Amino acid sequence: MNILIEKLSAILDHSTLLLGSDISDKYHADWSGADPCAPPVLLRPKTTVQLSQIMALCFEQDQPVVIQGGLTGLAGGATPLNGEIAISLERMQGIESIDTIGMTVTVLAGTPLQVIQEAAGDHELSLPLDLGARGSCQIGGNVSTNAGGTEVIRYGMTRALVLGLEVVLADGTVVSAMNKLIKNNSGYDLKHLFIGSEGTLGIVTRVVLQLQPKPRSTHTALCAVNDYESVSKLLVELKRGLGSGLTGFELMWQSYYDKVLEVSPGLLSPFDSQFPFYLLVEYIDNDRELGADRFESVLYRQLESGLLEDAVVAKALQDAERFWKIRDGIGELLQVLGPVSNQDVSLPIAEIGVFATDLEQRLKAKYPDITILLFGHIGDNNMHVCAYTGRDEDKINISHDIMQLIGDYSGAITAEHGVGVLKRDYLALSKSPAEIALMKTLKEAIDPKAILNRGRVFE
Ligand SMILES: Cc1cc2nc3c(=O)[nH]c(=O)nc-3n(C[C@H](O)[C@H](O)[C@H](O)COP(=O)(O)OP(=O)(O)OC[C@H]3O[C@@H](n4cnc5c(N)ncnc54)[C@H](O)[C@@H]3O)c2cc1C
Repeated sequence: MNILIEKLSAILDHSTLLLGSDISDKYHADWSGADPCAPPVLLRPKTTVQLSQIMALCFEQDQPVVIQGGLTGLAGGATPLNGEIAISLERMQGIESIDTIGMTVTVLAGTPLQVIQEAAGDHELSLPLDLGARGSCQIGGNVSTNAGGTEVIRYGMTRALVLGLEVVLADGTVVSAMNKLIKNNSGYDLKHLFIGSEGTLGIVTRVVLQLQPKPRSTHTALCAVNDYESVSKLLVELKRGLGSGLTGFELMWQSYYDKVLEVSPGLLSPFDSQFPFYLLVEYIDNDRELGADRFESVLYRQLESGLLEDAVVAKALQDAERFWKIRDGIGELLQVLGPVSNQDVSLPIAEIGVFATDLEQRLKAKYPDITILLFGHIGDNNMHVCAYTGRDEDKINISHDIMQLIGDYSGAITAEHGVGVLKRDYLALSKSPAEIALMKTLKEAIDPKAILNRGRVFE
């Protein structure tokens, strides 16, 4: 490592290359907080050229590196493993250009998601990617984890928003695939190799994203539902009634809803009674009045049909914000609940209700004092499971039990957070041996010395 540090010092200044105790503990772990580890060296390049030089030297010296974006990941992927050099993209920030006709934005990978959302908004455009970590996560991290969020039901995951990429490979080669075209079948579409591969195949340095016109009006309602079967029927009815304007279909089981209200002073339920399920529905339209009429009449029909028990439509932005605060209350919960197994899994929508009941019965049989909180982006198959007994030693066993049951149901062990290190040992529950073998073949071809994010996704 000394030879490498000498070579790096010859091309990098002190703000770009940090050693030992100069490295703040912010770089020791991602948001999961699991297994923090101080990297011996932290590199903070400012340009693609600089990053390419760094990787050429690391490749020459067989030096493993870990890539760090905004460190909001929940799978331990950006947490350094022993002896790895950390490379942070935090200084590669900025909006390069916005094309208001083609509705695209070109950005550096270290740009925080919220900065891009706001820049698009200044042009009456919108980047339809949003998640609770918007202020800290970087677009390079979003691309590398193929992040989901709250509008996937309408616009798809990050993959669906990316038109082009620039990537630095393990040996320092810069691959520029900064496509801005919607239709481009000229050969392999290489960007898909890097989207969602969690930094194991290349370092994303620049991104071209597809924007949308900013919606003129957004309509939000919090609804009460009596059983899961009605929830799945409602999804079909709302898709039929609201068409492509349906942008949110977020379900909260009563246990989750009540717990969020319990730990959030000042946050009140708009309903007088309690219900087994609460559903947050969001709809966008380009005409405020027509949109409101359409939204309310579609909900009214579902009240009449009996699928909905009750519904409160937000009359002002503050109402909608309050509803979303309940849905996003997981952030607050994780601060106060102690050791929690926090899983994001995917299953066919029709099976989620049965899975949830089965999961609750099995976990309660094994851990009688367990609390299980369920919620999720049900409109896109995604359910979050938050389970805890308050005892540290149970956390890992509970996670293991949830993963095994997901395997039994042929679901996905991770819907959006990625495999990283924390779910690596469960990959075979969701991917066939042939798929894993092909993933390894790709890794060996693109990163033959396995220096990029080694040990993430698979061993
Ligand atoms: C409160 C909260 C809410 C969240 N909500 C959601 C949600 O709704 N949907 C969702 O999908 N996720 C969610 N997440 C998880 C997380 O925010 C996302 O995974 C996000 O995309 C990670 O971005 P990041 O920049 O923080 O990446 P990091 O945590 O820094 O890194 C994540 C992975 O990507 C790699 N990586 C980072 N940048 C690059 C790059 N430029 N090139 C190559 N590899 C790179 C890292 O090595 C690591 O493996 C949430 C997290 C929090 C804390």
